[in-house]
Amino acid sequence: MKITIIFPGREVEMGKANMPVMPLAPTLLAALTPAEHEVKLIDMFYGDVPDYDADCDLVAITVRTPLAVIAYDIADRFCARGKTVVLGGPHTYALPQEAKQHAAAVAIGEAEELWPLILNDVQSGSLKDFYVCGQYKLDTLKGRVHHQFNRPDLANLPMMRRDLLPRDRYLMDSIFTTRGCPNFCRFCPVTPIFGPQIRHRPIDEVIAEVDTLRRNYFNVDDSVFGHPQIADRPEENQYYFDLYRELARMQPKRLWSGAGGLSAINYKDGRKIVELAAESGLCSIAAGLESLSAAGQKQSGAWRKLHFTSPDTFEIRQMKENIRIIQDLGIEIMGFFVIGWDEDTPDMYQRTRDFCDEMKIIPFILTLMPMPGSPIYDEYLEQGRILTEYSWDAYGGDAVVFKHPSMDPQEMYNLNIQVLHDGFSLGRILSRTWYTVKNRPSLGVALNSFFTQLGIRRAFRQQFEKI
Ligand code: SF4
Repeated sequence: MKITIIFPGREVEMGKANMPVMPLAPTLLAALTPAEHEVKLIDMFYGDVPDYDADCDLVAITVRTPLAVIAYDIADRFCARGKTVVLGGPHTYALPQEAKQHAAAVAIGEAEELWPLILNDVQSGSLKDFYVCGQYKLDTLKGRVHHQFNRPDLANLPMMRRDLLPRDRYLMDSIFTTRGCPNFCRFCPVTPIFGPQIRHRPIDEVIAEVDTLRRNYFNVDDSVFGHPQIADRPEENQYYFDLYRELARMQPKRLWSGAGGLSAINYKDGRKIVELAAESGLCSIAAGLESLSAAGQKQSGAWRKLHFTSPDTFEIRQMKENIRIIQDLGIEIMGFFVIGWDEDTPDMYQRTRDFCDEMKIIPFILTLMPMPGSPIYDEYLEQGRILTEYSWDAYGGDAVVFKHPSMDPQEMYNLNIQVLHDGFSLGRILSRTWYTVKNRPSLGVALNSFFTQLGIRRAFRQQFEKI
């Protein structure tokens, strides 16, 4: 069969300039496609345009909530031309019946074992309506369902098909080493989608793949430092010790980035994991800090990943100490904060930006976005707090889409823009870059820091112009 795999995108999207990273989902899907098929990848994020009249038998489209309207439009156009369309991705996990209106079949959950089966069923003319991987409320699905309860083993995965995208278009390659997250943050759909158990890829397979990557890459794992809940399991920590020791031995040595929690610093083995990660080339992490208030930590559920024994034990002092330890190892921190928890007040935007200034962390300060698939979306929907006048387009950050007990949505939106505008002034970017270089004197690190921040600034400013 001729198969087209589409990763939808739009012209202005925050992640675009911020994350010039090759997308993993389409390259993985292509890798899982048996060699007898011909595969074409379209990454609309970086300018590819779907050819609706192309000769193809099957179209697979990733649906993420902010791009769901675009994805559905693409799907409808292909369906109108008689093509078989299959949709998958985080949004289809949350709203499969909505997705089914635009496709012959919908995939829910991880693709490794579902995708080859879907291809077989397309060829044999026996395509089902839904293909589900993992625990799921099957009674919410109307139609023929294939259900695979067990999540895929991550050993023996084929090499991602990075060769199907123009590599020079991206600053970084991407890779993953684990899946699953035990944290259950209430604003995040990752634990429901990938499950609370951590699954690892074999280290020799990761190393073989890293060997094919360029000098800069991004690890898309939820936490490259492991997870505090399982820190008492020596084999879990040993995985990271072994992986980072192997990475540190590689030549040429690569710089890499990823997402990681501060919690690792709170326990002995975790601190060692962070040190080894730094030695292996880790130069920056996106850290979900989420809130400066105990009430925000409690409502978000994020206190677990910061390794506080309960939300009431949250202390800014400890957060600061952990940040400094990581920075002193030469790892730059991009701090992700969510504002809009019920007890937040307007001054929280400014306080959070001041905190980022003091700690020299890159201020990713965003108003709460209740994403479908997350517990908080279901809760707010039930409470009538989701503002239904918005389409999924607004879920990329273009509006505040829920009712806050005391703040007006427009006020929150304006405050958010102001702190981001100020937080990415050239003076602040240079000051943070200088701080990073003092901790890790390296031209590569300096350039990485400066140009990543410039990219974020450009992306945010593109969004401001839309007001
Ligand atoms: S926000 Fe991060 S730590 Fe929390 S559930 Fe999602 S992936 Fe896990």
